[in-house]
Amino acid sequence: MKILVINCGSSSLKYQLIDSESEKVLAKGLCERIGIDGRLTHTPSGKDSVVLNDPLPDHEKAVSLVIEQLTDSENGVIASLDEIGAVGHRIVHGGERFASSCIITDEVIEAISECSDLAPLHNPANLIGINACRRFMPEVPMVAVFDTAFHQTMPDYAYLYGIPYEYYENYKLRKYGFHGTSHSFVSKRCAEIMGKPYKDLNIIVCHLGNGSSITAVKNGESVDTSMGLTPLDGFLMGTRSGSVDPTIISYIAKKEDKTIDEVMDILNKKSGVLGISGVSSDFRDLQKGMEEGNERCKKAIEMFAYRVAGYIGSYVVAMGGADAICFTAGIGENTSIVRELVLDRLKALGVTWDSEANKKRGEEVKLSKDDSKIDVYIIPTNEELAIARETVALVK
Ligand code: AMP
Repeated sequence: MKILVINCGSSSLKYQLIDSESEKVLAKGLCERIGIDGRLTHTPSGKDSVVLNDPLPDHEKAVSLVIEQLTDSENGVIASLDEIGAVGHRIVHGGERFASSCIITDEVIEAISECSDLAPLHNPANLIGINACRRFMPEVPMVAVFDTAFHQTMPDYAYLYGIPYEYYENYKLRKYGFHGTSHSFVSKRCAEIMGKPYKDLNIIVCHLGNGSSITAVKNGESVDTSMGLTPLDGFLMGTRSGSVDPTIISYIAKKEDKTIDEVMDILNKKSGVLGISGVSSDFRDLQKGMEEGNERCKKAIEMFAYRVAGYIGSYVVAMGGADAICFTAGIGENTSIVRELVLDRLKALGVTWDSEANKKRGEEVKLSKDDSKIDVYIIPTNEELAIARETVALVK
């Protein structure tokens, strides 16, 4: 079956067409600057990318252009839309309502819309993508795969914040966690690599990318994760601050005569390693800066690694021990200096690791030595494939 995977943002739409039997990507692409001007980059498997600068006034036009490209006589990979067996949509926030993926119905759309309060930038964009696809492919089954669903197994003492309980009861203010598709995919793959039942393992997954989160997966279930009500929680990321003393928000607002929204914008877009380094949110630039003697780039990398190691330590305790630690996503898979700094701190947990193996990147690698108390791996994530697998499982 051919599965179209859609990841819709407020001004972008990423897609992949995946053959579920071979798990090969037949074509992938990105629509950018939707509602501004518009650009589509379409890459059929084994061929060069095509860039179209056609106007994209809305997501509906973007979906129609994607369909045109997928079925194009030159750049296309299918003869007609009839070949698409199902569409899998990435949905950011499923609140407490969704603990697993589900077939999209009118009722599900309504429930996703009700979660928009918790993810005002993401869920409305995800819904626009669903509605646009439904209009062009009314007969094709569609599946919603939630970033939050995997974490619905967390115990209440892990997900509740230390604020009056009424805020949880009235507004559902609690930790939800994100990147669930990636944490689930990588932890399952880790169990396969280790050749042990998933349900028998305690695994810590470090999804380190522009957005980063760490999850404790105990016996196949998420029991704690670093992101919270929103993806701003946790530790410093590319441009996000992660957790800070909440007093900082009112302090900056008063000192700089800013509104709460303006301060939140700073915490979301101008903080993290970008804010610390003053150079970039990209670890390749930070590493270059550090090698050239830029102290703030060095500080940003050290802060990041220190916090990652801290979460790992606390999750070993949360699970009563860990069998494996996995590094994944852009930084986790590629940036050996970050892994090195984290692994150095993990000596305290009896972790031993191979510095030659740590030079590798972007492939499955075992980093720990045989005498290590905890196995450590690089496992590349593949959220689109995970969404395609979930979609097939539900529509079959
Ligand atoms: P992601 O959000 O998972 O795409 O990760 C993005 C971040 O990963 C980038 O901002 C870089 O800091 C880092 N990254 C991606 N590719 C590489 C690479 N080849 N070498 C070093 N860092 C990388």
